[in-house]
Amino acid sequence: MCVCVCGLSIFEPEFAKGISASVLRCLQARYMADTFYTNAGCTLVALNPFKPVPQLYSPELMREYHAAPQPQKLKPHVFTVGEQTYRNVKSLIEPVNQSIVVSGESGAGKTWTSRCLMKFYAVVAASPTSWESHKIAERIEQRILNSNPVMEAFGNACTLRNNNSSRFGKFIQLQLNRAQQLVGATVQTYLLEKTRVVCQAFSERNFHIFYQICKGASEDERLQWHLPEGAAFSWLPNPERSLEGSVRTAASLLGLQEDVLLKTVQIRTIRAGRQQQVFQKPCPRAECDTRRDCLAKLIYARLFDWLVSVINSSICADTNSWTTFIGLLDVYGFESFPNNSLEQLCINYANEKLQQHFVAHYLRAQQEEYAAEDLEWSFISYQDNQPCLDLIEGSPISICSLINEECRLNRPSSAAQLQTRIETALAGSPCLGHNKLSREPSFIVVHYAGPVRYHTGGLVEKNKDPIPPELTGLLQQSQDPLLLGLFPTNPKEKTQEEPSGQSRAPVLTVVSKFKASLEQLLQVLHSTTPHYIRCIKPNSQGQAQTFVQEEVLSQLEACGLVETIHISAAGFPIRVSHQNFVERYKLLRRLRPRTSSGPHGPYPAKGLPEWCPHAKEATLEPLLHDILHTLPVLTQTKATP
Ligand code: ATP
Ligand code: MG
Repeated sequence: MCVCVCGLSIFEPEFAKGISASVLRCLQARYMADTFYTNAGCTLVALNPFKPVPQLYSPELMREYHAAPQPQKLKPHVFTVGEQTYRNVKSLIEPVNQSIVVSGESGAGKTWTSRCLMKFYAVVAASPTSWESHKIAERIEQRILNSNPVMEAFGNACTLRNNNSSRFGKFIQLQLNRAQQLVGATVQTYLLEKTRVVCQAFSERNFHIFYQICKGASEDERLQWHLPEGAAFSWLPNPERSLEGSVRTAASLLGLQEDVLLKTVQIRTIRAGRQQQVFQKPCPRAECDTRRDCLAKLIYARLFDWLVSVINSSICADTNSWTTFIGLLDVYGFESFPNNSLEQLCINYANEKLQQHFVAHYLRAQQEEYAAEDLEWSFISYQDNQPCLDLIEGSPISICSLINEECRLNRPSSAAQLQTRIETALAGSPCLGHNKLSREPSFIVVHYAGPVRYHTGGLVEKNKDPIPPELTGLLQQSQDPLLLGLFPTNPKEKTQEEPSGQSRAPVLTVVSKFKASLEQLLQVLHSTTPHYIRCIKPNSQGQAQTFVQEEVLSQLEACGLVETIHISAAGFPIRVSHQNFVERYKLLRRLRPRTSSGPHGPYPAKGLPEWCPHAKEATLEPLLHDILHTLPVLTQTKATP
C-alpha cells in the first residue's frame, strides 16, 4: 500500500521545459557532489564520473547492497538494479527472467556499467558451499569475466568519442541455476562495424587487436607475420609498396596461391544467359580496391562470429543446468551525425524499438500499480512512436522495404531517385520530415529523440553488402585450417552473395538480417521483467567535474528520459509507503488546529513548535512544499487496517 501524489496537467511546452530544467539542475548538483547515480522512476540514470571511483565498485559495497533488507533504501546505484533483478529471479515461485537494458551515447559508460553488473553477479551469485563446486563456480565466473577483454580486443576501437568504443551491440544472458548461482552465460552480438577494418575516420583507429598483436608479438612472430614495427599499424601499412609484395604477404598469411589471390581480386566472374555461361571481366582499379576491402571485411566478420561462438561454447551452461537468466543489453544509443547512413538508420531503428518496449512496459507497470491501489486515474496520451516504426519497418511499404526492393531489383539507381521514391511512397507518414534544405539526396525521419537526416548515397550498396561468390570460393581453397573452418565448402548458414544477372530470389540484406535479429531480441526482452539504466556523458571532453547542461539535456531527450518524466507526471509520480507517510506527516494532525482557513492551509508562516521533528531544519519551505503537494491525494489513499 502506498500513497501516490497526483500528477499535473502536462504536455505544455513551458511545463516540459520546466521539468527538463529541474532534472538538469538536480543531476548537476548531484554530479558536482560526486553522486553519480540517480533514480528516475523505473530508470537509473548513471552519470559518467570520468575519473576512477574505486570505493564505488568495491566487493564490500557489492555485498552491502546484496545483504541490505531493502537495497532501494540505500543510495541509488547500479548494484541496486543488480540486486533487484537478482531478488526478482529468486523470490518468485514461478521464476521470471530479468533483463537490464543499458543505453546511452558513445562514451557514456554502457560497457563499464555492464562489466560492473557482471562483476556484481560474479560476487553475489557465487556462493556454493563445497570446495569442488566452489572451484567450478569460480572457473565459470572467471571465464565469463575474461571473455570481456577478448571480445573488446576484436570488437572495440579508439574513436573520437571514446578510447575504448564498442563497435558492436551485445546481449549477454547470465544463466542461473535453481540455487541462484551463476552457472554460465551466452553472448549475442549485433552489427559489428566491419568497415572499420579497411577504413577509419580521421584520427580514429582500427580494432584494438591489430595494435595489440603488433605490440605483443615477439621478434620472430613479427617477422613471420610480416608485421610493421611498434604500434604503427594501419590497413595496408605501406601503400607505396609494390603490388603489390603486399599480395605475396597476404597470400602467404591466408594460405593461398599468390596468382590465384591476385586474379580473384582483379577479375570478375559473371554468369549470364539461359545456360548461365561464365564470362570473366577485368575490373577497373576502383573495383579491385572494393573487392580487396570486401575480402578483408568478410574474413574479419567471420572471425569475429567464430570468436563469439568459441566464447559461447566455453561459457554456456548445459540446458538442464540453468533455470533462469538475467540479460544485459549493451546497445548503441541514438545517433545523429552530420552524415548519417545505413548504420545510423539501423541503430536508431533499434532505439525506436527499445523506446517502444520501454514505454509499453512503464505504462503497464504504472497501470498495474494504480489498479492494485484502487486509484482513480486516467492516462493522458503519450507520444507513441508506432508511426515512426511504421515508417521505418512497416508493411507493405516502409523505408526498409523500399531499400530492400532496390537491392532485390538490382537495378542502377541514383541516390536522388531513392530519395524521390521514399518521399513519394511514404509522403503520408507523419514521421517523414520536410526535406527542404538538403544539397545531397537525403530524407528525414522524425524520431522520438529528434529528427535525423539520412543520406541516400551508397545506402542501397551498403544494404546489399555484396560478397562476390569468387571471394568466398577463393577462401575455401585456403591451406590455413582456421580460415577453412570459417569458410566451409557446404555452409549451413546462408551467405549474402551477389545476385547474378537479374535474379529475383529474395536477397538477405543488412536491413533484413538486422530486423530479424532485433525481433528476436525484442521477443526475449518481452519475456523478461525489464530494468533500464540510462548512461549519460556529462561532457564530450571526458573531463571529471564538468557538467555541460546542453549536452546532458540532448542525451536526456535522446534516451527518452524527458518523455518518461512526462508520462510519470501524468500519473502519480511520487510514492511513499503508507507507514512512511504517516511517520512523516502525522504532525499535521497537531498543526491543523493552529491553522485558520482552507482545507490545506494556510500553514504557520514561520517557525514550528519545539515538538515538531522538523523544528531544527533551517527553513520550512521543503516541508510545506511536500505537504501542499501531498495533501490533495490523501482522499485517494486506501486506509490500511
Ligand atoms: P561506446 O558506445 O563507444 O562503446 P560506452 O557507453 O560503452 O561507449 P564506456 O566504454 O563504457 O562507454 O565508457 C567510456 C569511458 O568512460 C570508460 O573507458 C571509462 O574510462 C569511463 N567510465 C565510464 N563509466 C565509468 C565509471 N562508472 N567510473 C569511472 N569511469 C567510467
Ligand atoms: Mg561500449
